[in-house]
Amino acid sequence: MDGMAQDLLAWYDRCARVLPWRSFPSPYRTWLSEVMLQQTQVDTVMPYYHRFLAAYPRVEDLAAAPLDEVLSLWSGLGYYSRARNMHKTAKMVTECGTFPFDIKGLRALPGVGEYMSAAIASIALGIDAATVDGNIARVMARLHADPGPRKAMWVHASAHLPAGRAGDYNQALMDLGARICRPKSPKCGECPVESHCQAFADARVSEFPPPKKKRVVPEVFMHARLFRRDGFILFGRRPVKGLWGGLWEFPAIELAAPKPKVSAVKAAWRSEFGIDDDGGQLIFERKHVLTHRIYRYQLVLGVDVPEREMGPYSAFEWMNEAMLSKVGLSTLTTKALAAVRV
Ligand code: SF4
Repeated sequence: MDGMAQDLLAWYDRCARVLPWRSFPSPYRTWLSEVMLQQTQVDTVMPYYHRFLAAYPRVEDLAAAPLDEVLSLWSGLGYYSRARNMHKTAKMVTECGTFPFDIKGLRALPGVGEYMSAAIASIALGIDAATVDGNIARVMARLHADPGPRKAMWVHASAHLPAGRAGDYNQALMDLGARICRPKSPKCGECPVESHCQAFADARVSEFPPPKKKRVVPEVFMHARLFRRDGFILFGRRPVKGLWGGLWEFPAIELAAPKPKVSAVKAAWRSEFGIDDDGGQLIFERKHVLTHRIYRYQLVLGVDVPEREMGPYSAFEWMNEAMLSKVGLSTLTTKALAAVRV
């Protein structure tokens, strides 16, 4: 076995993080955890993972659940396309009767890419495959003092792969990246593979990986209205494809400008919903930052009920508290709803 892998695994055997999806790994549990862990911290994922496993102990249970229920359980975890793909995958796996047994088959599942297919294959199926996520890419960039591209990190990770322990090796690298070889202030003094690290030897750790170019994130103005009727509130369901797909929210218009003119807001309400009033008092206001978009959100009291209920939505529903607890809501809508309840 390669010296780096040997030192890494010796450390992992002593200090591996105790995570619920690591005990009794199966394709279903590993897949569930990997879907949730994409762009999300372990501590955030933990309660969701337990909640999903309690509600859907088998992939067949997840496949049989209505999408609204799945999205409701997912509410607050973000990146909702993951939940929709997960639901689709559960149906496909249930129809086939089993999860695929190889990387190619896993890769064909919705939402399962190069990283995840190799992670599931190595951890749950014992296949000798290296994988590279953000943490592992950073560790490899530093170990080899290599600025990239990303493909090079796959070559490095594969070169160290210990036959027969690929799952542990991949998880050890994930742990190392999360706990020791962190993006800022890596703890090189505690690192089990320091003696194999080229960036450390060259005193150039801060140069790897090279900084990414900053993206310009567009700002969007979202103007929503609260319509009440006999203890019910009007909600629209976003189309299943796209941002917040399948989630319910207060009817709203969106404009591609952070501070549009009042006349532009009014015109959008008129064209989307046939509403021609100025709206009522401001109830809730928030700047909501996503990785690819910044929302300037306002919720105002609705005066006239929409003439055309559909607007940009696939469905409309007057809902009470009990109904709301069974559907998916974005974090932004949940916060706005909390302001309405006060
Ligand atoms: S020595 Fe430092 S930079 Fe190198 S792998 Fe360990 S923590 Fe990362």
